[in-house]
Amino acid sequence: MSPLIDPFGRTVTYLRVSVTDRCDFRCYYCMAEDISFVPRDDLLSLEELGRVCSAFVARGVRKIRLTGGEPLVRRNIMVLVRALSRHLESGALDELTLTTNASQLRRYADELATCGVKRINISLDTLDPGRFQAITRQDRLAQVLDGIAAAKAAGLKIKINKVALGPYETGEFETMVRWCAKEGFGLTFIEAMPFGETGGGRADEFLPLSEVRDRLGEIWTLTPLDETTGGPARYTLVEETGQKLGFITPLSAHFCDSCNRVRLTCTGILYMCLGQNDAADLRTPLRVAADDGPLMEAIDKAIAAKPSGHGFAPGPGNDRSVIGRHMNLTGG
Ligand code: SAM
Ligand code: SF4
Repeated sequence: MSPLIDPFGRTVTYLRVSVTDRCDFRCYYCMAEDISFVPRDDLLSLEELGRVCSAFVARGVRKIRLTGGEPLVRRNIMVLVRALSRHLESGALDELTLTTNASQLRRYADELATCGVKRINISLDTLDPGRFQAITRQDRLAQVLDGIAAAKAAGLKIKINKVALGPYETGEFETMVRWCAKEGFGLTFIEAMPFGETGGGRADEFLPLSEVRDRLGEIWTLTPLDETTGGPARYTLVEETGQKLGFITPLSAHFCDSCNRVRLTCTGILYMCLGQNDAADLRTPLRVAADDGPLMEAIDKAIAAKPSGHGFAPGPGNDRSVIGRHMNLTGG
């Protein structure tokens, strides 16, 4: 079957799937405390999610990331993981991975490893229990650290994602760099996208990554690296520890030219760009026939409409309407 090539010559090889918009945490920059979730009836079943993923794999997608909401709170999520792991076994898929808050990893780490998941991204903004509670509105740092320990013991390679939240002076960044070095984890800092409709009212905590880099540079020797992974991260080597630090500045446009990804929501909407409203309904064509003909047609039409780049200007405080709205729906 033909690969998915958009009008700008970019081949789509990476599918991110938000398997649920629900979460057991309420990180203030991500969701309002009293957020209302999509009605359960609108959700694609795990079997339907598996069918859409398999259609993408048939069209050349080599990497699938499960995200959310919190992917591991979706009931029976391992049904989907097991279904997708057959594509790893056949060699059709290079990588099956997920982004998680780690709360459920004690329960699932071993089975994830058995299913062929090799590495995972874990979102952890702080190692301080009080601050963790202030950010996630949950007093569960110990549970998260235990989940991370379980994942490490299961042999999963771990990358920590930390959203850059101010003020810098807390020492949080240095602590995280040192902890990740000690544990052997990767580390990426993510610039916070404008908060707004999350009810957090904490936009004063926005911290530009340029400032983080400058401050870390006062402690360690940071050497910028040329490598990219086709995504928004830029990498820097910490000479003293040998660590590679990632910096994700979501509002900059430098990565659009090499964008290889699309995002599927738990209701079957395909977003062709995180920073645009362009979306395609895959649920209707999925349900209209038992064969994948209409679904494939809808996927082709969607890829033909992938925008060249995102449509918001860089800088804090801008366009919360596009991104803030569907962060937990599209999975970031
Ligand atoms: N629940 C999982 C987790 O937290 O890893 C997966 C979904 S979460 C939406 C994916 C990522 O989006 C997390 O790393 C989170 O920190 C990030 N995120 C959420 N809201 C954000 C925002 N306003 N700005 C930047 N990153 C954000
Ligand atoms: Fe949940 Fe992840 Fe959003 Fe935090 S960032 S509320 S863990 S979905």
